[in-house]
Amino acid sequence: QLKFGVLALQGAFQEHIHMLQNIPQVSSAIPIRKAEQLKTIDALIIPGGESTTMALVAERSGLMEPLREFVRSRRPTWGTCAGMIMLANEANKTKKGGQGLIGGLDITVNRNQFGSQIDSFESLLHINHITTSSDDLFPAIFIRAPIISSINSSNIEVLARLEHDVGETDASAIVAVKQGNLLGTAFHPELTNDDRIHRYFVQLTQDYYNTENERKINNL
Ligand code: GLN
Repeated sequence: QLKFGVLALQGAFQEHIHMLQNIPQVSSAIPIRKAEQLKTIDALIIPGGESTTMALVAERSGLMEPLREFVRSRRPTWGTCAGMIMLANEANKTKKGGQGLIGGLDITVNRNQFGSQIDSFESLLHINHITTSSDDLFPAIFIRAPIISSINSSNIEVLARLEHDVGETDASAIVAVKQGNLLGTAFHPELTNDDRIHRYFVQLTQDYYNTENERKINNL
């Protein structure tokens, strides 16, 4: 039985908790506000919100280094929107002096890519591992969203791109990636009724621990 945490310093964490709680393999889904709690969970979601605020609160609560340690320990971690920015190794369009990032994903993100003209929009996406045909596209909600402007490692798998130009941003823009046990989506799956990416993340977590356990048994 798997224990999930959702970073709950700021932003849309409650919606992620609700979605996780409805998935059978999930034994618990708890809000994470303290470093000690990270030791009790198998996988983590970092929600959308405002990444500069989230980083400030994380630093003040002494969570930044424990979060980096969590990601380094290879436990599955998924960042949505601001959460994906937090998981990026590099972010553009940040305030001078930069902002604290957890890092882990070898990507560069452009924050607030769509500007104030197109604050938010919904778009149907093909997503690797999630959608199978044009009949079951994923309804992706973008809110002051980032895009992935550069992929900096061959270990990154591109899961989704925009399907249509949005303002100045063209359809090839990358909006979802995977690197090992890390997932990043520029949009907000927790604000829809579609829990396919949540179920995919839970399955990835289960597969990871099954493999880990087998490895441990074989090494005994
Ligand atoms: N614009 C926010 C940021 O830069 C992200 C918005 C979101 O998470 N919906 O952190």
